[in-house]
Amino acid sequence: MPSGRVHTVTNFAAIAAGSIILKNLTSIPSPLIATGAITAILGTLLLSPDNDTFSHPIKNWGLLRFFWLPYRKIFTHRGFSHSFPVGSITRIAYLFVTIAVTIGTFHLLQAYFAGAEPTQAATATKLNLSFLLTVAWRSVLSYEAYYLAGAIGLLVSDGLHVLLDWV
Ligand SMILES: [Zn+2]
Repeated sequence: MPSGRVHTVTNFAAIAAGSIILKNLTSIPSPLIATGAITAILGTLLLSPDNDTFSHPIKNWGLLRFFWLPYRKIFTHRGFSHSFPVGSITRIAYLFVTIAVTIGTFHLLQAYFAGAEPTQAATATKLNLSFLLTVAWRSVLSYEAYYLAGAIGLLVSDGLHVLLDWV
């Protein structure tokens, strides 16, 4: 089983080589290549399949590492989280749910302490989250090529990790 450092060095070398190859041998616009490379780097450093254990990517979250505690409880190390590409989807979904719950809780508490009735606060929170989801979805539709490049970058990062774990 390769160490976290081996995963990071391997991924970074592959990301650099892949970016250079794509830039020189294809007509893919540079901003899309850069988007894929950036998400692959972020995937390596923050959204690795090894987020299912106390790993380097988890430590990279700093004080926010506790957000991944439920994920580590749900997924056993090198289990479902290491199944490609489903494991990648679980981490993205987990990240979005965690962000939504955090924003929702913050908004709910803010409305409650501002004097709103609990039902009013809940309704306002639901509307706020619905608004954010709409904005996010419109962003995806407006910049779909960038989101696709970003998704490919994350998948490449995870794919390399899972492949290296098998070797
Ligand atoms: Zn692993």
